[in-house]
Amino acid sequence: WKNAPSSLREIALAGRSHGDRLFTIYEDERVTYDAWFRAVARLAVEFQARGIAKGDRVAIAMRNLPEWPVAFFAATTIGAICVPLNAWWTGPELAYGLANSGTRLLVCDEERWDRIAEHKADIPSLETVFVARAAGSLEGAETLESVIGTPPEYAGLPDAELPDVSIAPDDEATIFYTSGTTGKPKGALGTHRNLCTNPLSSAYGAATAALRRGEVPPAPVQKVGLTVIPLFHVTACSAGLMGSILAGNTMIFMYRWDPVEAFGIIEREKVNSTGGVPTIAWQLIEHPERKNYDLSSLEAIAYGGAPSAPELVRKIREVFGALPGNGWGMTETMATVTSHSSEDYLNRPDSCGPPVPVADIRIMSEDGSRELPTGEIGELWARGPMVVKGYWNNPDATAETFIDGWVRTGDLARVDEEGFCYIADRAKDMIIRGGENIYSSEVENVLYDHPAVTDAALIGLPHQQLGEEPAAVVHLAPGMTATEEELQAFVAARLAKFKVPVKIVFVEDTLPRNANGKILKKDLSSLFARETESGAT
Ligand code: ATP
Ligand code: MG
Repeated sequence: WKNAPSSLREIALAGRSHGDRLFTIYEDERVTYDAWFRAVARLAVEFQARGIAKGDRVAIAMRNLPEWPVAFFAATTIGAICVPLNAWWTGPELAYGLANSGTRLLVCDEERWDRIAEHKADIPSLETVFVARAAGSLEGAETLESVIGTPPEYAGLPDAELPDVSIAPDDEATIFYTSGTTGKPKGALGTHRNLCTNPLSSAYGAATAALRRGEVPPAPVQKVGLTVIPLFHVTACSAGLMGSILAGNTMIFMYRWDPVEAFGIIEREKVNSTGGVPTIAWQLIEHPERKNYDLSSLEAIAYGGAPSAPELVRKIREVFGALPGNGWGMTETMATVTSHSSEDYLNRPDSCGPPVPVADIRIMSEDGSRELPTGEIGELWARGPMVVKGYWNNPDATAETFIDGWVRTGDLARVDEEGFCYIADRAKDMIIRGGENIYSSEVENVLYDHPAVTDAALIGLPHQQLGEEPAAVVHLAPGMTATEEELQAFVAARLAKFKVPVKIVFVEDTLPRNANGKILKKDLSSLFARETESGAT
C-alpha cells in the first residue's frame, strides 16, 4: 500500500485530478471535482487567516449539503481536527459536542445555528461561525457564502493550491461522536490513516472474496451513489465519501430521507448504488410507489450499522436484481471491519461477513482474559489500521476500550470455521433469564421469519426471581394480522422455551430508530411499561 493515499490531503488531491467529473448532486446543484477543490482551497486559506492551525478543532453541524465535504476537507487538509456533529441533536446536545471538543470554528446551516446561538455562552472555545444558506440576519456569525459563494458558483473561484502544511498518516484528523445508543456519545479520535483505510480495504475485500471462490474480482460498481445516511456518521463519511472521491464517483445528497423522492432520483440520475442502514433498504422494497419507477440501474444495495433480517438479502436480489452487501463496524473503527456480499452473503444471510483483509477479529471471554474456541459466543475484539487512537478527552473510557491495538467492541458474536462473523447482541442488551443467556438477534430473526412481521425488537423486562424475562415489540406489515399467542407459538416451535417472549406488544409504526438506523431499545422499554400498565397489548 506504499502508493495508496495516507492522508486527507492526498485524498483531496486525488479528487482534484478528476477535474470535470461530477462530485456531488444536490437538488439542481451540480458540483464538479474541480469546483469542489477550488472551494476547499479557498476555505482552507480563510480558516488559516482566522488562526486555525494544526490540531485545532473545526466542527461541522449541517444536513448533507454540498458544503459539508468542502468544510471537511478545508479543515483536515490544513491539519485541523474536524468534528462532524449530529444534525439531529438539540441545542444543548450540540453545545455539549462543541464544548467537549473545544471547537474554535464552526461551519453550520441556519437550522443548526438557530439551535446553537442561544447556548453560545456555554461554548467558551468558539470564536468563529460560518453559516451556510442563511436567509435571515445573523448575530455572532458570518455567512459561508461571503467566503466561497454558493455551490454551483464554486467553479468561478480562482484555481488555487492547498496551503502548505505537512501531515503524517498518524496525525489526528477527526472526532466523530458515537451514536449514543448505550450511553452518552463519546468522541472517537480518528487519524488520517484511519480514514484512508476504508475505501482501500473494501475494494481489496471484494476482490479477495471473489478470488476465494475462484472467480475474477468484480469491477467496482459504484459510479453514481445515492447517499441517504448522514455524513456525520463514519459509514457515510469514511466508507462513502472517501471511497467516492478516490474512485471519481458521483454522490447525490438528499435534504431528508424520503423513499418516493429516492425513487425519482434513482430513475433520473441512473443511480448504481444506495443503502446505508437496513431500514432504508426495507423501505425501498416495501413502498407501493416503487413499481412506478425504473430502478433497473441499481447494481448494489449495501448496509450495516444495525442488525438486519436475514430475509433482506434474498429480497434485494429478487426485487432489484442488485447485489446485497452488509458490513459490521463502529465509530471506533471508522466504519468497516467485516464485509459481506454476493454469493457468500446469500448463503450466509445471518452473518455480517469475514473481516476485511487488513483487520483481525477475535472472540474473547467476558473478562477479556482468554480467546474463546471457534463457534462460541463471546465479546468481539477488532484490530487494524482503521481502529482509532482512543476517545477524545476521556482517558478512563480509552483505557477500558482500547487494549494493545485492539478495540473491545461491546458486541457479542461468534466466528465460524470459515471465518464468517455472526453478531448475537450487544453485551448491554443481552437478556439473562434465570442464568440462561438470550441473544436478541436469535429471537428477532425468528420473528422476522413470520410472514406478517416486518420489524421486531427483543428487550428484557425486569423479573423478581429470574432477573429478566424476554419481551418483544413487533410491527406488522400493512394488511397482515397476527396475535400474541400465534407469534409466541411460532417462536416456541423454533427455539428453546426460555427464549419465547413472555409478552409481545404490537405497534402501529415501525420501531423508533436514531440517525444511524439503530432501534432505540431504551425508549421501547418505557413504551412497554406503559402498555403493560394500561393492560393493552
Ligand atoms: P454508543 O457506542 O454511543 O452506545 P453505538 O454503539 O450505537 O452508540 P456506533 O458506533 O454508531 O454507535 O454503532 C456501532 C454498533 O452498531 C456496533 O457496536 C454494533 O452493535 C452495531 N452494528 C454495526 N454494524 C452492524 C451489523 N452489520 N450488524 C449488527 N450490528 C451492527
Ligand atoms: Mg458503541
